[in-house]
Amino acid sequence: MITANEWPKRCTCCARPYYAGEWTTLSFVGYMDDGDGGRLELRNCSCGTTLSIAIEMGLSWALAGDLAEVLRCDARELAGCPPQYAWPPQSKRVVSADDEQESVRLEKIADELSEIAKRGWYVDED
Ligand SMILES: [Zn+2]
Repeated sequence: MITANEWPKRCTCCARPYYAGEWTTLSFVGYMDDGDGGRLELRNCSCGTTLSIAIEMGLSWALAGDLAEVLRCDARELAGCPPQYAWPPQSKRVVSADDEQESVRLEKIADELSEIAKRGWYVDED
């Protein structure tokens, strides 16, 4: 069951309120099943507590796969990797810690999108 999210979402530990626009700025942890057919997105509050919101899977597996590709490219660029087919081969650029962190965040999202895409390639027969 998918339940509507109520904003602001309050941290269960420090009671800090988060509005929908702020939610995406929190550090992304991952997704999990809610045990009832729905899915939860997990992110960390600034106090370190993991919070969750219910999400809808309004994304086709094909689009999820494309998005994963795009995010992976961005993540590689942020991490300072040279273009994949650069010739002569270039060495990795030095990047700021912020870019490095953002790259890791994008990779995590790309991984999750790839999982959604895979579920489309192999349709379960119930
Ligand atoms: Zn908190």
